[in-house]
Amino acid sequence: MIQIDLSGQVAVVTGGTSGIGLATARLFLQAGASVAICGRDADRLASAESALRDAFPNAKLLAVRCDVLDAADVTRFAQDVQTAFGRIDMLVNNAGQGRVSTFADTTDEAWREELDLKYFSIIRPTRAFLPMLEASSQGAIVCVNSLLALQPEAHMVATSSARAGVLNLVKSLAVELAPRGVRVNSILIGIVESGQWRRRYQTQAEAGQSWEAWTGELARQKKIPLGRFGRPEEAAQALFYLATPLSSYTTGSHIDVSGGVARHV
Ligand code: NDP
Repeated sequence: MIQIDLSGQVAVVTGGTSGIGLATARLFLQAGASVAICGRDADRLASAESALRDAFPNAKLLAVRCDVLDAADVTRFAQDVQTAFGRIDMLVNNAGQGRVSTFADTTDEAWREELDLKYFSIIRPTRAFLPMLEASSQGAIVCVNSLLALQPEAHMVATSSARAGVLNLVKSLAVELAPRGVRVNSILIGIVESGQWRRRYQTQAEAGQSWEAWTGELARQKKIPLGRFGRPEEAAQALFYLATPLSSYTTGSHIDVSGGVARHV
């Protein structure tokens, strides 16, 4: 395993209170970075903070309640990070969730909400943290995106369409920010076990059906070559690679973390 020492560096993970974001915060802390996480729900934020402090008693950790769709919240979050740590080197734009809906049942309002979430969850934190990222000698932004960007699903029409736009946005950002010393990349994930899938399990599984049985059946139905859902740590490792100098010559690119589901070569 390659070891990397991130002491003295600062990572910000939006939506760091559960699933992929929380696993990513752990990796940064393990590598010695100072870490700031955010989320909307105060209880989830408090329990994530206490889990991280239990695991890393000496951690330089900041947990801030912030909705990435609220411009004032995001500005305040960036100011809090500046006050606490004085810098930021790595930004992981992770906050969000998917929307299950077909074209027939997606209203105008739902389309707007979905496009708003997918775009502004990247635009606002990127804008707020950019001055600090530019001041770093190894500034990097990584966005959590989905394989839906390249391989749309009709039952997630609005999410798929927004994801494709975000893939395009990441490329433009990478080109614009490269001369300013900031790399921009993304990961394209398939299905990763996380809070949103746990919530779906609770409402959709048959009575008595275990989590393993339910996810195993879904993996079969969805023809995932590796035969299972991904784990948050597996997405986190790809995010970690793209956020750190391990990938210092990579920008405007993406890593597929889908268990082999992509059909294109
Ligand atoms: P989780 O539900 O476990 O985690 C989502 C995190 O984002 C939570 O910390 C949540 O906290 C936070 N969050 C959501 N909306 C906002 C917001 N507006 N402002 C701030 N924080 C927010 O899900 P995952 O770990 O699976 O999701 C991580 C990312 O991966 C999401 O963007 C999701 O869309 C994407 N993704 C996940 C897939 C999967 O299979 N798991 C597939 C494709 C993409 P709180 O609710 O308290 O705000």
